[in-house]
Amino acid sequence: IYEKFHAIILISEHRRLVPGARRRVTITPLRFQQSLRISTLSCVPQRRNRATCLLPPATPVTLPSMSSDSQGAFSKRVVEVMLPLALPVCYSYSVPAGCTAAPGDYVRVPLGPREVIGVVWDSEGEGEDKVDAAKLRPLNEVYDTPRMPEVQRRFVEWVATYTMSEPGAVLRMCLRVAEALGPEKVRIGYRAGGELPQRMTPQRQRVLEEADEHFARPALDLAHAAGVSTGVIKGLADAGTLIAEKLPAFARYPVPDPSAGGFKLNKAQEVAAKALRAAVAERNFSVSLLDGVTGSGKTEVYLEAVAATVAAGRQVLVLLPEIALTSEFLKRFERRFSSSPAEWHSAVRPRERERVWRAVARGEALIVVGARSALFLPFKDLGLIIVDEEHETAYKQEDGVSYHARDMAVVRASLGAFPVVLASATPSLESMFNVEAGRYRHVTLQSRHGSAGLPEVEPIDMRANAPPTGSWISEVLGQAISETLEAGDQVLLFLNRRGYAPLTLCRHCGHRFSCPDCDAWLVEHRFRRQLMCHHCGYTIAVPQECPSCSSEGTLVACGPGVERLAAEVAERFGDHSMVILSSDLSRGETLRELLDDITKAKYQIIIGTQLVAKGHHFPGLTLVGVVDGDLSLGNGDLRAAERTYQVLCQVAGRAGRGDKPGRALIQTFQPEHPIIKSLVARDRESFYQYELKTRDRGGLPPYGRFAALILAGVDQDTVNSAASRIARAAPRSDAIRILGPAPAPMAVVRGRYRVRFLVKSGRDINIQAFLHAWLDPIKLPGSVRLQIDVDPYSFM
Ligand code: ADP
Ligand code: ZN
Ligand code: ZN
Repeated sequence: IYEKFHAIILISEHRRLVPGARRRVTITPLRFQQSLRISTLSCVPQRRNRATCLLPPATPVTLPSMSSDSQGAFSKRVVEVMLPLALPVCYSYSVPAGCTAAPGDYVRVPLGPREVIGVVWDSEGEGEDKVDAAKLRPLNEVYDTPRMPEVQRRFVEWVATYTMSEPGAVLRMCLRVAEALGPEKVRIGYRAGGELPQRMTPQRQRVLEEADEHFARPALDLAHAAGVSTGVIKGLADAGTLIAEKLPAFARYPVPDPSAGGFKLNKAQEVAAKALRAAVAERNFSVSLLDGVTGSGKTEVYLEAVAATVAAGRQVLVLLPEIALTSEFLKRFERRFSSSPAEWHSAVRPRERERVWRAVARGEALIVVGARSALFLPFKDLGLIIVDEEHETAYKQEDGVSYHARDMAVVRASLGAFPVVLASATPSLESMFNVEAGRYRHVTLQSRHGSAGLPEVEPIDMRANAPPTGSWISEVLGQAISETLEAGDQVLLFLNRRGYAPLTLCRHCGHRFSCPDCDAWLVEHRFRRQLMCHHCGYTIAVPQECPSCSSEGTLVACGPGVERLAAEVAERFGDHSMVILSSDLSRGETLRELLDDITKAKYQIIIGTQLVAKGHHFPGLTLVGVVDGDLSLGNGDLRAAERTYQVLCQVAGRAGRGDKPGRALIQTFQPEHPIIKSLVARDRESFYQYELKTRDRGGLPPYGRFAALILAGVDQDTVNSAASRIARAAPRSDAIRILGPAPAPMAVVRGRYRVRFLVKSGRDINIQAFLHAWLDPIKLPGSVRLQIDVDPYSFM
């Protein structure tokens, strides 16, 4: 190994390494949760990084001495490359002669037997640890693409440090479109204009009718239009009749026109827009919370800030929860700027992604509208971020690097010294807290635009209005639905539960269907005739007989899901068109189309889960019925009250956004609960004050900080013993409380046992440093995975 490489940083085997020996080695970065097996060491981390310091003192690793005369000569020819892998450090490579590589360059490098794409990173502390470049493997290619801007490299490091992930894992999120790095694939198009061919056929004739003299079209396109095979096109090109021309690989994004199509803003909107334009003009970091009731015109107002930024020639990123990215929403941009923005979400096809990525890197795409992952696009000159629906928990990524896109957007803005606007009708408690503390500016819109008033909210006390067993719609709600349908308006029934019924049991023996791999009941999906686990996807067909007592026809569904509610609605209001919106029934493009159809009032009754609460504008909707207003209260989550309030508020806010007034009815067993009361009284302030006080008393976020540690593994004993080792190693501190280890509420998921710790500290404590000091020295067995979630949103 020494023959070929210089140093081995961390080695799990404590055997002596004999110079010249060739062995497979396992590198186990202690900071990282899994061992990383690399059969050949291809290159060497050079910096003395944290990982090096964690070496057990007894490990017999020595760095070979380097001949001193070669140091200076080679120093410039070595670059540090960050690879999109979960590695704690950069790797060094030599730069081939005649090639230049500077920080930010995208490069292709060898790694063991494979090749990976990485980014040349800034080598810190130049002068120390110089290596003989001749002994390193060279870069294979430096891409001719705009370099990753420095601010993005700092952002990668910042996110990694904050979320306690490896920087390479964050970099991976920036390198999702490898195709965009190489040269653009040249496309050839054909246009008419050459001499007529010697031999004319009807097929050739049709092609010539289709071909234009000025605009070249790809062969396939032309062949389709003429109804011939591409062979005919080729023949005509060979004959010199069609002229081949290079086509631009991607259509360019048109430059948005900032003064194209704005509405005349009303007074309040104008005041708000002025405040946001001023923030843009400052060209400095600031956070504005754009806080306005649903339908008050927040979008119109922040589009003014977008316009101001575009007018200054800088780029804008508008973040939305994936599901709110409907074509109706995008059309508002088209109308406002007479050109469509670049889109970035899960339904964007690979080729379009490549186009977006390139255009963003070159600074040609000025407006990007995207889901949370758009934060990691290589903006050339980002000047503004809008986070719409900032309270949405969909902004929190749970797996992989667990980051909160709203919080990271604020970080990105601060690193880039530009403003960020957070918009919501129900701001998160975190943002309200920052407003109160004077850190965020508060820009408010008090009333709905135009004649639309806010919906009346009324509770339906289910203790006095219980529907008969097996049905879920009370008499009062049923009456309101009939009236609304008769008036030709739309009704939305909200129930935040997918499937038909959350639990199936045997009436005869009491057998309950649960997932064999998770700590959860199987949910019946009647449309698909399946019982399904919502945590791991385990699915079985609904059986004919009870697997426990073999009785037939004894299985009963308990509790409602949207599908069961739909069955009840179909029975009672069958003459009206109905649609179910639920993430398991429709996703991506189909869902977008459904939402558009609802906007166009193609359906009169909409039954939906949380999906429907998000930012949609359905003008014909005048009645919202919340089937179970108590569902998410009291589920042990610190944000349960906040979420219930937000969801109910947002759902209610879907009503009456058009010309007619709206109404929201909430079925509840606790009409006296502070949340229901403040919803009914439309007294938002009382809810925030009540909730802030509760959090303050408990030292909960935003007053305190949380981090969750989740240990998971197939073998329960191994997980438990790992957990006790971690618990024993916990440093004592007055400022930090460690709760656990305790079995997670979802104690088994996908056959893995899960044990949780919750670490709780004051706001001013560096919780990451604490966790490093505690966890870095602990080496876990390879079969146990430790996931760290800083600022957790899920407590399952
Ligand atoms: P919010 O984002 O606060 O829910 P929107 O920006 O979606 O509100 O506005 C609600 C509706 O009112 C939209 O259809 C919007 O086009 C319309 N609207 C808002 N402001 C104006 C205005 N100044 N002139 C005309 N229509 C407006
Ligand atoms: Zn049974
Ligand atoms: Zn399961």
